Amino acid sequence: MLKPVTPKPTTHTPYRGRLAPTPTGFLHLGHAATFRTAAERATTAKGTLLMRIEDLDPLRCKSEFSTAALEDLRWLGLRWDEGPDVGGAFAPYTQSQRRDLFLKLWERLRDGGFIYPCKHSRRDVELAANAPHGDEPLFPKEWRPPPDAGRTSPTPRGENWRFRVPDGEIVSFLDGRLGQQTFVAGVDFGDFIVWRRDDVPAYELAVVADDYAMRISEVVRGEDLLKSTARQLLLYRALGWEPPAWWHTPLLRDASGRRLAKRDGAMSIRELRRRALSPEEVWALTQ
Ligand code: GLU
Repeated sequence: MLKPVTPKPTTHTPYRGRLAPTPTGFLHLGHAATFRTAAERATTAKGTLLMRIEDLDPLRCKSEFSTAALEDLRWLGLRWDEGPDVGGAFAPYTQSQRRDLFLKLWERLRDGGFIYPCKHSRRDVELAANAPHGDEPLFPKEWRPPPDAGRTSPTPRGENWRFRVPDGEIVSFLDGRLGQQTFVAGVDFGDFIVWRRDDVPAYELAVVADDYAMRISEVVRGEDLLKSTARQLLLYRALGWEPPAWWHTPLLRDASGRRLAKRDGAMSIRELRRRALSPEEVWALTQ
């Protein structure tokens, strides 16, 4: 019998938070707003804030975007207080240098029978699920291999590895801002990728590995990741770890109501700096 996936209310002390940009483009106002909330919550709790660059995707991430993100956040006045020491300043933690940790967890999940190798690509899943636009396609359950598939694989390389979600199980958690959140495994989300066939650890695995390893007590991030939190709770349970607390921030929208995204270059902090706005003026735009 599985333990329920409702985490007990957490009383983590001391407070440890993180800023976790993905360097696939310049940061925009939405990132700034989320990071400010993360910084404020750490300061209010007299806690520690760290910086982690989530640069696992070698095709989409670029070091120039990491450099720009750090520079833009410093220019906005944000600071973090932990990380490798580089001449008196704190360097960020960098996920691309932490592959060994992610691989160990892949092994644990494989040994525990929680994950399986899968020939089907994301595109196959999209086509099969025929999901209405904007909805996330569910991995078809009939594509699942037998329970012991992959148990003897020495390496994740060459296939997508998916987490077998407990169908119909309710995953709920308390969000610090939004209150109780509830998702149903196998309905709201299906078997999700933990390791990609191009041999890159997937976001859900890496973020859980690092938040746990870095003893993060509260995760502050955008509301677009609420469903990911439900997936991640399944990983925490599979690994036997206590999850952090959660705080999801509102998403900023442009004048036409569209969610800000990295592709909207005009709203990047870079661009606003180039137009000679001051940090105060940029902050004012996030209100
Ligand atoms: N790196 C992710 C992003 O930039 C955020 C992940 C997280 O906060 O868990 O969207």
